[in-house]
Amino acid sequence: MKYKTIKGVQDILPPETFLWQEVEQTAKEIFSLYGFKEIRTPILEFTELFVRSIGETTDIVEKEMYTFQDRAGRSITLRPEGTASVVRAYIQHGLSQLPAPQKFYYIGPMFRYERPQKGRYRQFHQIGVEVFGVDSPDVDAELIDMIRAFLQRIGLDSLSIEINSIGCEQCRPFYRERLIEFLSSGVDTLCNDCQRRYQKNPLRVLDCKVPTCKEFIKDAPRITDFLCDGCKEHFQKFQQRLKALEIQYSINPEMVRGLDYYTRTTFEITSNALGAQNAVAAGGRYDRLVESFGGPPTPAVGFAIGMERLIVLLSELKPPRDKGPMVYFVTLGEEASEFAFKELSHIRSAGFSAEMDFRRSSLKSQMRRADKAGARLVFIVGEDELSKGIVKYRDLREHTEGEIDKQGVLDFLKNFNF
Ligand code: ATP
Ligand code: MG
Repeated sequence: MKYKTIKGVQDILPPETFLWQEVEQTAKEIFSLYGFKEIRTPILEFTELFVRSIGETTDIVEKEMYTFQDRAGRSITLRPEGTASVVRAYIQHGLSQLPAPQKFYYIGPMFRYERPQKGRYRQFHQIGVEVFGVDSPDVDAELIDMIRAFLQRIGLDSLSIEINSIGCEQCRPFYRERLIEFLSSGVDTLCNDCQRRYQKNPLRVLDCKVPTCKEFIKDAPRITDFLCDGCKEHFQKFQQRLKALEIQYSINPEMVRGLDYYTRTTFEITSNALGAQNAVAAGGRYDRLVESFGGPPTPAVGFAIGMERLIVLLSELKPPRDKGPMVYFVTLGEEASEFAFKELSHIRSAGFSAEMDFRRSSLKSQMRRADKAGARLVFIVGEDELSKGIVKYRDLREHTEGEIDKQGVLDFLKNFNF
């Protein structure tokens, strides 16, 4: 074999693609119940967009971006996440002038140069949403409710929900000082990355996955103890709303998320199915980002669901299966084949999936193919049948058979209980 996919990316093949379609379809249905509309942004953006929003000292920007120079020497990056692009589009097209809230969802590939492993790829897919223009924590709770509804609908109902508040520009600086103080007492125990960045961006240390860093920050001061009155109240109300919806959650004061733009609410949702550990959905509030990109001050909140992780869980719970055609024509002789060929087009346009064997093989081998294809009904047509004006059928599931008028194929299908 001469060509293979590059490391960390993968082909998605049937029958797994059925599962992808089901997940995407369900997301579209559920999100539209909550008032979300689709937005599609380009996969390529100027590098600066991501550096500015995600943050220079984050893992994504420091080591995970696919960045290259285009032919004109501009620095371009394959999007590592969706929020920055949606915010750019929101400002670029003046969507802030439309009535608030503006609610968007997107589905598509993201790119991060990570060490590939199960549930972690270099090209992966997210379904994400962003809400602009409401600072009330009602929206934050509504998003959690929507994720729950979506995950339940696709069959994942045992969820762990972790929430946190990481404060705002009023209160976070105080916390930041205290955290730097704490971290400097044990710099030597931190990993190289954290030693380098704790002065610039100490909250990133809380997000570090290195075990020694994790151990050390267990005793770190907690952001939730430093929230200003506004953030405290916001966080309280958020929780009050979650309780009203009977949503179980826990507070994780170390969860800061891997992007710098968050303010106040952050959350992560993990499925308890089959020992899953990594979050399938994650998000939070980013009340300052629109303004920092040159738009009007606009509170915003969003989340993203990792599709690969969802699909891994789902396919273990319910292995994806090929969908066979509803109808398979088995024919003998040229005249019968022509009859079936026309009939195929006719019934497909009426909404019935149908196949026939174009290889002019024996009745027996055509029957075998119909079975292998997973067809529900087989229509058998030969010269004999045509001269009698009939078509024979077999129901491969119920093991029944019979004859119908050759003019009546479509009517038969319309009345058939598939
Ligand atoms: P993690 O802590 O697992 O690296 P993250 O904080 O980098 O996740 P986000 O940027 O918040 O993740 O993206 C939201 C979701 O996208 C994650 O919860 C996860 O389900 C999915 N995701 C992120 N990175 C990858 C990846 N490399 N491969 C597959 N899915 C991913
Ligand atoms: Mg990551």
